Amino acid sequence: MSLLVVGSVAFDAVETPFGKRDKMLGGAATHFALSASFYTDVRVVGVVGDDFGQEEDQVFAERNIDTTDLQRIAGGHTFFWRGRYDYDLNTAHTLDTQLNVFADFKPKLSDAAKNSRLVFLANIQPDLQREVREQVRGAELVGLDTMNFWIESARESLIETIKVVNVVIINDAEARHLTGEPNLIKAARKILQWGPKALVVKRGEYGAALFTHDSYFAIPAYPLESVFDPTGAGDTFAGGFMGYLASVEKLDEAAMRRAMIFGSVMASFNVEEFGTERVRRLTHEEINERFRRFKQMTHFDEIPFDRAANASAT
Ligand code: AMP
Repeated sequence: MSLLVVGSVAFDAVETPFGKRDKMLGGAATHFALSASFYTDVRVVGVVGDDFGQEEDQVFAERNIDTTDLQRIAGGHTFFWRGRYDYDLNTAHTLDTQLNVFADFKPKLSDAAKNSRLVFLANIQPDLQREVREQVRGAELVGLDTMNFWIESARESLIETIKVVNVVIINDAEARHLTGEPNLIKAARKILQWGPKALVVKRGEYGAALFTHDSYFAIPAYPLESVFDPTGAGDTFAGGFMGYLASVEKLDEAAMRRAMIFGSVMASFNVEEFGTERVRRLTHEEINERFRRFKQMTHFDEIPFDRAANASAT
């Protein structure tokens, strides 16, 4: 198994200016795993209650996602999140978070899970993220995401976890909030000083940026006319990013730059419909088509400009 993810598997209630759902399958690990499953084999570590039924299991099964390490608690309730987006779809307003079965969760990984090559610590309590990280000691690359909820309630633990990962993938508001640094470049430098070799900053409709200790790379978002529900866009981005990396041998900067494009392509599909609906129906042809469009969109030739030579030619 090449890619392991720990994070929330959830029921979400979401309202956007374009519609609402009272209860749909969600969770950071869910969106991540669905997206990554287009690139590699994925295994999910997490916990659900017995309200998690066949219909939900089917979503994972359809994409061959391994749920052996997804614990089920009899009589327990699955993690629940309620959020609202206004016309600024870049900002999620959390109305309710019920940890439920995650409150007492102790991740205990199977041997297969412990041998994963890549690991993603998706959004969940940072102590849990670290407990999983410590059980996969041989991993070649470990990524991490988080959100304001954990930055506010468990900041010290979160920083300890960041120290033991290779790539942090968070959004711009979270990077500022986490570091207390309004300037994004300074915030990035501070996060990299804690230990990771790379930081990916997701910027919603404005694209994403990759910071390393000695380089910077940025891409726009795919231009979409209809964005319906941004829930899970960040996790879907991370799924494309890490999933693609799991599919290549060499995890160098060139691979990370391509992974940024795959992440953006996947996120662009996710936001077109509610929850997991669009990504579930996605095809490789659709992914490759948007990848090509990205290349066209961001390509330009280098033509050195010489003012004197130009003037004498005219
Ligand atoms: P995003 O990709 O940032 O839009 O993540 C959305 C997903 O994160 C939703 O499907 C929620 O179930 C999940 N979520 C929301 N709050 C939390 C939290 N505090 N911890 C873990 N997962 C969460």
